[in-house]
Amino acid sequence: MPAKVTVMKFGGTSIEDQAAFERVAQIVASDKSERTVVVVSAMSRVTDALLSSLQMAAQGEIKTALDSIDEHLERHLQVASGLRASARADATLLIESVRREIGDLLNAVSFSRKPSARLQDNIASYGERLSACLLAAVLAERGLPASYVDARRCITTDEEHGKANPLPGLTTQRTCAALEPLLKAGRVPVMGGFIAATIRGVTTTLGRGSSDYTATLVSAALGASETQIWTDVNGVLTADPRLIKTARTVPLLSYGEAAELARFGAKVLHPKTIQPAAQHKIPVSIRNSRAPEKVGTLICARTEAAQGAVKAIAHQTGMTMVEVTSTPAFVANGFLHAIRRIAGRHQTALNIVATSEIGVSLASQETSALALIVDDLRQVGSVEVSSDRAIICCVGEGLQSAAGSASKIRSALRDVDSTLSWCSTSSNNFISVLDEAAVGTVISLLHHEIFENNAGIDERTDFRG
Ligand code: ASP
Ligand code: MG
Repeated sequence: MPAKVTVMKFGGTSIEDQAAFERVAQIVASDKSERTVVVVSAMSRVTDALLSSLQMAAQGEIKTALDSIDEHLERHLQVASGLRASARADATLLIESVRREIGDLLNAVSFSRKPSARLQDNIASYGERLSACLLAAVLAERGLPASYVDARRCITTDEEHGKANPLPGLTTQRTCAALEPLLKAGRVPVMGGFIAATIRGVTTTLGRGSSDYTATLVSAALGASETQIWTDVNGVLTADPRLIKTARTVPLLSYGEAAELARFGAKVLHPKTIQPAAQHKIPVSIRNSRAPEKVGTLICARTEAAQGAVKAIAHQTGMTMVEVTSTPAFVANGFLHAIRRIAGRHQTALNIVATSEIGVSLASQETSALALIVDDLRQVGSVEVSSDRAIICCVGEGLQSAAGSASKIRSALRDVDSTLSWCSTSSNNFISVLDEAAVGTVISLLHHEIFENNAGIDERTDFRG
């Protein structure tokens, strides 16, 4: 029987400083799996800093751009300073050569003034390249046989810079070729998330926050038995903890529920993460690197627990709503199809939040391409646009079908605010669109009604005991 592989992914806040690197080392050291792969994000705030330095350089502010990176290189040096002499010397050399390379790139952009998408990916990739090298060194000092692997040798994508799409066959082939010999030799590969390369080796990235996605792609390629996403909260919570102090961990989610929560704004998971895991039926657990003793959330195919209950409330602000009312000619000629074609043409995610015979409501966080999209939509009907809107989405498998539960939840939702209308875009959700300013109040009331008054949640969810 092949050995069991666990892929452990650590986010930026889980490696924000030297103490955090130490916590990660302890977590990896105490992992009992036969084989472990580590995927890591850039240190917190580093990707933002790299991308904004490029913008500054493009505006000719080269000194500010270079200075803004220094602070973060210092943070890496600080972590390196905790290593023993030879490892520290290697890490310092690496950081200094990265300083020079970034300096060259920024200088070039300050002349050309053209920060291409390709260059953006190139500069953004340094965050994960540095953090993964440093983590490999820290793990090695703890006696773990860690080896740095350049993720660009594994994850292979198309040329859509900034949000490249993995090519599944090649990604599997290259990931196995790079990682399996190390795993067989008992080593722990450590690689960056987020970064990838085209077939010809040009650096790409998978989209902001996509290190989670790298982890499930690697799991799928290796046929891993588990993906662990280590972050700074106790798993997926019943609502955003920044808004709701009483939010609590959801112990179990199905793949469908997790994907829906991520799609409607839950920050804890990148929206594409679930797809490879669900396809290969690999469980994903979400854990807190500051509190590893907590069980966190387990996401798997198992759905029988608490069918028909709201598991969590996600929300998304900064939304623009676009209401399209069709002209009669279009109703007969595939109105929805025309809208999907427009969304596809602009390569944008337009969430359809309500449909009727003659109209559709779309929600988008897109800003730059929106005017063009609206122009195209005017070809199929009359269009009304409203901004500063938010979506609230209550998610739970079988919400629609479970006897009694849909009406119970609907009445709880009505009690919260009778002016809001709720609809569903799948059997797993209830969605409402409202003014952004009202989100805090409405979610508090909803959370109270559903989780504290127990209108829609079944306490059996905690079956893991
Ligand atoms: N470092 C990347 C970002 O900040 C990817 C990630 O953290 O998942 O977007
Ligand atoms: Mg993240």
